[in-house]
Amino acid sequence: MAVFSQTDFADHEQVVFVSDDKSGLKAIIAVHNSNLGPALGGCRMWPYASEDEAIRDVLRLSRGMTYKSAMAKLALGGGKSVIIGDPRTDKTPELLAAFARAVERLDGRYIAAEDSGTSVADMKTMAQHTRHVAGIVDKPTGEGMRSGDPSPATAYGVFVGIRAAVEERLGRASLAGLRVAVQGVGNVGFDLARQLREAGAELWVTDIHRDALTRAGRELGATVVAPEEIFGLEVDVFAPCALGAVINDQTLPRLKAKIVAGAANNQLAEPRHGAELFRRGVLYAPDYVINAGGIIDVCYERTGFDRAAVMAHIEGIHDNLMAVFARARREERPTGEVADAIAEERFRR
Ligand code: NAD
Repeated sequence: MAVFSQTDFADHEQVVFVSDDKSGLKAIIAVHNSNLGPALGGCRMWPYASEDEAIRDVLRLSRGMTYKSAMAKLALGGGKSVIIGDPRTDKTPELLAAFARAVERLDGRYIAAEDSGTSVADMKTMAQHTRHVAGIVDKPTGEGMRSGDPSPATAYGVFVGIRAAVEERLGRASLAGLRVAVQGVGNVGFDLARQLREAGAELWVTDIHRDALTRAGRELGATVVAPEEIFGLEVDVFAPCALGAVINDQTLPRLKAKIVAGAANNQLAEPRHGAELFRRGVLYAPDYVINAGGIIDVCYERTGFDRAAVMAHIEGIHDNLMAVFARARREERPTGEVADAIAEERFRR
């Protein structure tokens, strides 16, 4: 089992292996970089097929958080943790407590938040054993904000980001009549679709859950299509809001959209797919730049939740993207590469 020679090892500051016999905890906490602040990132619980797979995941995801927070101009570094196990059968209060104690021992260098396989309720359980969890504070609700849940903030950020991409690629400020295909109408996708609809966009949606689709069709007047059909539609924007690696060798040649801008993490199967989008004149809004609303929201909770300040910071995603687009145009480089360069300039300074 290699760590330093893993392709995903990228000069990580600290990788901690945690185990607790009594509760059966096996976890890895990775702090990628803390130059800009404490490393905040989700705690994922997943039944990894091998320990190698868990290490790869935590190395890759923690590095991604450094780039995301740096691009969002937050005083945060990048970290992530993984608990090896099935969240449906292996998650117990004892296991969460043992994990939280390990987080506490890092003395604030890593701050945990919910992720796949963990919930706001789990974070609240952990908070009884460590001060270093985020995403648990009850926020003022209303206007789409829900306590602890970062999805509405993420959706708003993606909406703001689509505006930026439309300005850049289509040269217009209004979203009226914009044709958008949304892949996945879950927590983020549905809220995004609703905002697009309110701004006058025409929507196509898909999902693998029939209930989610029916609701989107009924409440948003969206045209419902089968999962495979979403890629080839004659639309302006393709908004991936379901899963990663959706821009790949199979889907990319079918895309007719001029813009790819959505919430999903790791949308490009490989960096070369970003280069191919660029070559074809498709504007790609780098995923970690456009989907930073959630981390911005979680970050503000640590300094006292000020709704107006959060919204203003999320709206900054517009300018962050415009800066990426402008430099990509100037340097004739794919937007993903340019975003990485800007983030590195910030966190390596
Ligand atoms: P979610 O699970 O609520 O929604 C995802 C939806 O996608 C579900 O309805 C699911 O049925 C659907 N889906 C899954 N596979 C599909 C497929 N092959 N085709 C069509 N639909 C499919 O998740 P979410 O919280 O809305 O997050 C959506 C994406 O955004 C994820 O990739 C997530 O990592 C990313 N993201 C979310 C946040 C957040 O704040 N929730 C923040 C940053 C990034």
